[in-house]
Amino acid sequence: METIYSLVTKPINQNVAIIRISGPDAFTIIKDIVPSFEPKQNSVVFKELFFGDEFIDQALLLSFKAPNSFTGEDIIEIQSHGNMYVVQKILEKLNTYNIRQSEPGEFMKQAFMNGKIDLSQSEAINTLILSENKSLTEKAISNLSGVQAKVIKKAIKDLSVIMAHIQISIDYPENQDTQKYSLTGIKGELEKYSKEIEEVISNSKLLIKIDKGIKIALIGRPNAGKSSLLNAILDEERAIVSDVQGTTRDVVESSILLNDVKVTLQDTAGLRTTDDSVEQQGIKKTLETLETADIIIAVEEPSEKLNYSDLEKFDSKIIKVMNKKDLVDLDNDEYITTSALNKDINELIIKISDYIKNNLKNINFKNAILITSNQVNNFEKILSHIKKAISMLKDNFSIDVVALEIETIIKELGAILGIVVDQDYTSNLFASFCLGK
Ligand code: GDP
Repeated sequence: METIYSLVTKPINQNVAIIRISGPDAFTIIKDIVPSFEPKQNSVVFKELFFGDEFIDQALLLSFKAPNSFTGEDIIEIQSHGNMYVVQKILEKLNTYNIRQSEPGEFMKQAFMNGKIDLSQSEAINTLILSENKSLTEKAISNLSGVQAKVIKKAIKDLSVIMAHIQISIDYPENQDTQKYSLTGIKGELEKYSKEIEEVISNSKLLIKIDKGIKIALIGRPNAGKSSLLNAILDEERAIVSDVQGTTRDVVESSILLNDVKVTLQDTAGLRTTDDSVEQQGIKKTLETLETADIIIAVEEPSEKLNYSDLEKFDSKIIKVMNKKDLVDLDNDEYITTSALNKDINELIIKISDYIKNNLKNINFKNAILITSNQVNNFEKILSHIKKAISMLKDNFSIDVVALEIETIIKELGAILGIVVDQDYTSNLFASFCLGK
């Protein structure tokens, strides 16, 4: 394995910067730089860094000996003050040795290659670093501890048992005594898996969608109070992303946290018909925004109604808001009423919170074990193979053809964890069976 190094904290001035060196040369190099330092398993020492006569910084030096480290290699971590000038000096010094800067994710790759983590755990770490959402973060933590891997390994084992029994039925056709693994039995098992995997996929999709954030588009005639409403919501709730300001005809986005869920609000340009080509582009953009939105807040004011005929196809996701309730006495079941001017938006916030709560309520968290779109895609592929095997069984395909399909499923399950499930795996299992039992 090559020795690699990198700044692992952000490249900005901050309290502390961490530079990691991982690989067989890590200890030799740090001893060359700091001769008084003796790297040991799991140790931390405080040192003054000198490059020649030049004093660079005071730093903590952490050492971890292979294989008992995150990457499974010898690791040195230099924790210096987080000044980018200091950091640059250290990186330049490391660059004089015959080692290279790591690629993105390469420490994790070393950890995987050395069998310290499986692929499911590496995705868990990545999600843990990036997620802004409580539920997905919790999932990432549980996958890091191996929950997802356990479910997948069990599926591999169960399917391998089926495979072994198929093998028995091919080799010893007279031994068809276990009902469970008759052709109907195999079909039943696969149908059970198909249902379980469908649930894993749909629940995981909901969880991932919630993590990406709920999208809310605001639409209404000019002067209905869309911008005022958006600002009132941002003032009241925790805003987490600064405005992306475009021209007045672009979609303006801002995000808040509501019930620990990211909610992105998008102010749109409106839908009125026009010959102006720039405005037409704005309308096209508005339509795209409405298509992808989870909720559309249609804002009206008492003196000017909104024409809903343009919005018909989005009917199911529209919340009708009558703004400027401070001007007239409004009592109408059809509308949520607000006064953006007086920051009287409580009714609307409750409505949006309810939507989030309902979405979260619909997730069966136990089944939502997939935390990235990549994992969902892999599972969808596996599901399609399972369905194919089921329909083959229904169509009375010969059992060895079905067996090939099941073997593909096992291999793809293994690929999710980064393990190769080869024939030996099933052969070993097969070897553990007593014939005819
Ligand atoms: P937009 O064109 O839909 O974004 O509307 P604006 O937010 O720019 O608001 C248009 C005008 O209506 C401004 O003068 C606002 O101060 C006013 N306005 C917005 N909300 C309210 C409200 O709840 N009550 C009253 N009285 N005026 C409001």
